[in-house]
Order: sequence, then structure tokens, then C-alpha cells
Amino acid sequence: MAYWNGWRHGWPRRKKDCVGRWVRLRGRLVNGFFAIPKGTLMEIKSPAGGGFGLTGKACECCRLQASIGRVFPMDLDLLPEGFDPNRSDVAPEEDDRG
Ligand SMILES: [Zn+2]
Repeated sequence: MAYWNGWRHGWPRRKKDCVGRWVRLRGRLVNGFFAIPKGTLMEIKSPAGGGFGLTGKACECCRLQASIGRVFPMDLDLLPEGFDPNRSDVAPEEDDRG
């Protein structure tokens, strides 16, 4: 596993303790198939390479679900432990017009 220094930035000391936590994308992420907008809430599913594998919530209309690998902590805001993405009152909003 690549060197883990996320704990210096307020992340759990052990990388595997990040699994199950929710994050917010600091910027747009792009892979070969799609772009995931800035501000999207995603769940950490696994340590992947030097980063994490992330999965978003399934879309309520079409059931599409975004999933992306090797995302680094510097591209993510770690949300508080116990964060519930189904409660809009605790979901931090980001504008994606930039
Ligand atoms: Zn949809």
C-alpha cells in the first residue's frame, strides 16, 4: 500500500478506518466514462492504490450509481462520523458552476 499521510489532515490514522465514511468531492472527477460533479457525496468503499474507491448514492430516477477508484484525500472533504446522506439538513451543498 502506498504511504498514507491523510491522518495529518484530520483523517483517521489507519487508512482502513476510513472505509464507510462519507466524503464530498472538492472538484469535478473525470474518468473514461463520466464526470462526477463537484460537491457530490460519496462513500468510501475501499482503500485503492494510494487513494480510495468511492461509490455514490444511486440516482432516484434512473438508478445509475457513480463509482470511481484511486481518489486521493486531497480531492475530498471528509464528512463527520455518523454523517447520513439521506438527511438533507446535514448534507453540505456545493455550487458547481465554476
Ligand atoms: Zn437519474
